[in-house]
Amino acid sequence: MTLWTKWKLWYEYKRFCKAYPIAKSKKNWNYIILHHSWSPDNKVTSDWEGIRQYHIKECGWKDIGYHFGIELVNSAVQLKIGRSLETIGAHTKGFNETGIGVCLIGNYDLNILSNDQLKMFYFLCKRLMELYPDINAKHILGHRETYPLLNKPVEKTCPGKLVSMNDIRNLISPET
Ligand SMILES: [Zn+2]
Repeated sequence: MTLWTKWKLWYEYKRFCKAYPIAKSKKNWNYIILHHSWSPDNKVTSDWEGIRQYHIKECGWKDIGYHFGIELVNSAVQLKIGRSLETIGAHTKGFNETGIGVCLIGNYDLNILSNDQLKMFYFLCKRLMELYPDINAKHILGHRETYPLLNKPVEKTCPGKLVSMNDIRNLISPET
């Protein structure tokens, strides 16, 4: 990475922290679990709110199951805020108590993540790792990777067949 690229990334990260202030919760976290919505991203704001309404009305939950979402809205990638980090999630059996749930809006069995989506997830992980030292790059998991850890057969491709969790972990922490 050139010095210029490093500086640009640092500057963009500062902008991310300013645009999306995330405060440390009293509750501690150990993992970040990545999902996709599987539904196509129709590129309007309503996707994230639609999922929230579905989780509240159809599933009977207090709020959307995830803590964060990453969604393309009017050709810009946005970070969506879900349930509070003081509250356990409703997204991954066995990991709801320890894992922060993040959902990529879109179907990544069929589509490739854009650089902007990856960067948003990278910045989010960087911030969450600053706040919660128990989260290291090895604790950033795709939903599908949680099944073997629980000795269960893998039921889903989530966060998508075209998402390489190894590449993402490597991007976040090149040493691991
Ligand atoms: Zn999932």
